Amino acid sequence: MQKILNYIHGHLTEPNSRNYLDDINPAEGKVYCQLPDSDRKDVNQAAHAARLAFPEWSAMPVKKRSDILLKIADLIDRDLEKLALAESIDNGKPLKLATELDIPRASANIRFFATAILHFSSEAHLSDNEAVNYTIRSPLGVVGCISPWNLPLYLFTWKIAPALASGNTVVAKPSELTPMTAFLFSELCMEAGLPAGVLNVVHGLGDKVGQAINEHTEITAISFTGGTATGRKIAATAAPMFKKLSLELGGKNANIIFADCDVEQAINTSIKSSFSNQGEICLCGSRILVERNFYNTFVEAFVAKTKRLRINDPLQADTDLGALVSEAHMNKVLSYIELAKLEGGTVLTGGKRVVVEGRCSEGYFVEPTVIVGLDQNCRTNQEEIFGPVVTIMPFDTEQEALELANATAYGLSATVWTENLKRAHNISHQLKSGIVWVNCWLYRDLRTPFGGMKQSGVGREGGLEALRFFTEAKNVCIRL
Ligand code: NAD
Repeated sequence: MQKILNYIHGHLTEPNSRNYLDDINPAEGKVYCQLPDSDRKDVNQAAHAARLAFPEWSAMPVKKRSDILLKIADLIDRDLEKLALAESIDNGKPLKLATELDIPRASANIRFFATAILHFSSEAHLSDNEAVNYTIRSPLGVVGCISPWNLPLYLFTWKIAPALASGNTVVAKPSELTPMTAFLFSELCMEAGLPAGVLNVVHGLGDKVGQAINEHTEITAISFTGGTATGRKIAATAAPMFKKLSLELGGKNANIIFADCDVEQAINTSIKSSFSNQGEICLCGSRILVERNFYNTFVEAFVAKTKRLRINDPLQADTDLGALVSEAHMNKVLSYIELAKLEGGTVLTGGKRVVVEGRCSEGYFVEPTVIVGLDQNCRTNQEEIFGPVVTIMPFDTEQEALELANATAYGLSATVWTENLKRAHNISHQLKSGIVWVNCWLYRDLRTPFGGMKQSGVGREGGLEALRFFTEAKNVCIRL
């Protein structure tokens, strides 16, 4: 059986414990490879390697650093098919999605930051002709990057690319549920000539490897994407150590639909924002709010389209929804559907596990599910489900839509559908979420700030925000 290895000091290495964990193919419900069950010792070695590599990497001319990163991006593009297949097998997502979204976005992330760093400038201020101030931005040193399973290589690169581009060295931990593409990425780094120790990838469990990263005294900053409960744990350890923290956490995003919207676009895109990647995207609009005079029309059309989605083997070209990432996650999603019924909800379509014939008969597939009749305050409408489950609720006024949208502990993203420009601006400004899409969803420009308010996170990623996070500003004031 294939074994994934850690990547420490430029070498693929076994964990010190020599223990391995099973990696399951969720579409088949079967173990297909093994990953290191690493521990504190491996993290210490990785941090040591990163510390040794830091002086040379941070002092390297920016153009040279950029060229190495661009080479890695080219190798990702070369291996698109291989990486997309690996991502689909590891995560359960449709191969088509991995080919069109995950892997191209991984190389785009690297290319973006490899070139952004060439243009990263610092400010200078002339103060009343008496002094000149200029700001130096230096890399932090060794940083930790911890990523989740839903968009494995995409989110892994979204963190390590700005960290490396700005001159830091990295100890990274991909999710133990989807380690494969980070492993293949390690091989590409070796091929591209990334100096030893600049990037170190330690595989294993969150409470062992992740926690050792949180606690390591030489790791000066942590960039984390994952669940809110985990973010809280990381902050509890790292904040008293005064580590810099970027936390990209969960969401319970509203998709607000006014009767004056472009109906076809609103419905077609809402199908995507509800069920893409089996609903396992932090930006999915899991609470659909519809203006009451359009509610019945919307619900009828939306349910009809949902019923036409194909849940099948992720490797089939026409599959819309693949498998959920794990049996535990599938059971969590199914338990929320049962909870929704207990809370008085009506399941209009979906609601059950699906048995896909053939090699996927043991896989973790769940029907795309639409639930109505629930109150905003119930748990189904307050807690993140992170699966192919949406609720639909009516509203009467713009103010009510806003109140419903803002009435959760989360504040990651929101979507608004209206042809009324004034309303679009008004509601966008009042939504308590870090990202608002008007008449679109998941339209991403990598220069824009990305992140959430309230329990959806702390700090912003993307563009200059990420380069600022991974650097320390120092002001020098010179009296003229
Ligand atoms: P998770 O929090 O369980 O795990 C994320 C990562 O943290 C994994 O690598 C895990 O091993 C690690 N981890 C677990 N415990 C840790 C600890 N104590 N210290 C350090 N690391 C630890 O999240 P998940 O289930 O992998 O991902 C799903 C969650 O991620 C959802 O809540 C989703 O909304 C969120 N997410 C957010 C964004 C965003 O940009 N805001 C993007 C994608 C996913």
